[in-house]
Amino acid sequence: MSSTRRRKSRHPVPTPELRCKCGHELKRFWPYCPSCGRAQVWRDEPPATDAECYKCGWVVSDFYSFCPWCGADIFEEGFSREKPMKAPKGFRFDARCDWGCGGGVQYPMPYCPWCSREQDWEDDWYDGSCTHCERGVNDWMDTCPWCGEDATGQSLIPRALRRVRRLLLVSGIKDWGYRVVLRPGVSGVDPKYPKIVEIEQDYVVGARSRKEIPWTTLVGLICHELGHSFLYHHWSWTRSDAFKRVFGEVHKAYRVRDDAWVSFQRRRVSTVRPQYVSAYAGTHPLEDFAETFRFYVVRRGRMRELLAELGRKRKEPIAYEKFLALHHYVRSLRGWR
Ligand SMILES: [Zn+2]
Ligand SMILES: [Zn+2]
Ligand SMILES: [Zn+2]
Ligand SMILES: [Zn+2]
Ligand SMILES: [Zn+2]
Repeated sequence: MSSTRRRKSRHPVPTPELRCKCGHELKRFWPYCPSCGRAQVWRDEPPATDAECYKCGWVVSDFYSFCPWCGADIFEEGFSREKPMKAPKGFRFDARCDWGCGGGVQYPMPYCPWCSREQDWEDDWYDGSCTHCERGVNDWMDTCPWCGEDATGQSLIPRALRRVRRLLLVSGIKDWGYRVVLRPGVSGVDPKYPKIVEIEQDYVVGARSRKEIPWTTLVGLICHELGHSFLYHHWSWTRSDAFKRVFGEVHKAYRVRDDAWVSFQRRRVSTVRPQYVSAYAGTHPLEDFAETFRFYVVRRGRMRELLAELGRKRKEPIAYEKFLALHHYVRSLRGWR
């Protein structure tokens, strides 16, 4: 057997639904199911080229010299074209090969079928990019459909996330369905997607992580961002007099960007700005709330301890009232009085 391709007999195949065995919807040529993580094999179904790679089993063309999916050498005398083509039957021309070999490639082929070299694709229509392979992923995905690793990045910060969950629990704050994802560029919460809490992955896997940011700082940062998420989720509260009186007018929501991560490692109330729990809290009512929320959670909702510290730091009554307002609201959500 010298053939590098498996020949199949032609018989009618119903148009397959693009679904994983687990039932989740798939996009064609995703190597992994983003829901259950199962590896996928995209065969010549429905039949279009009558050829599949001997190594990975994915659909190829007789004209190819290399498998565009696994990179295997599938050159066959008399079939493979010496001169690269734009798109043989069964494939689309989406772009030229990145390396200028003259051949065409179809999204999202990782290898050029003519010269075997790796291709870069922009996955523009995804929510963000994978911490592991940098390809596009959506916020709901547990598994990266490209590399099969954890798409949220949560597996890189298990200790911080465990602590945060524990702190929320002992603070009496019910899970509102928030989802922490590591993403490049910025930490923040988009008010349009209030449950998605993005944490700048650079603190964990990038340049800044080498400066050894303590995981407790990460806990503080996550708690601060969770404060934004919590408030966007309970947005009607911001229109109440009780809220407005202590935090002020939040006006219109804005995309919160946090560059002040350094201050998030402080567990102690700062002594500056007697009306606020930290200097950063004074920048905007939304930041004021997020900082109040962070202190409340990091200090386990222990009001007596918090209020005593505010007293020692000579904070004004309004600083106390912020914590009391949050405390009462949290308890009202649990149906406590
Ligand atoms: Zn699946
Ligand atoms: Zn292959
Ligand atoms: Zn090429
Ligand atoms: Zn990935
Ligand atoms: Zn913030």
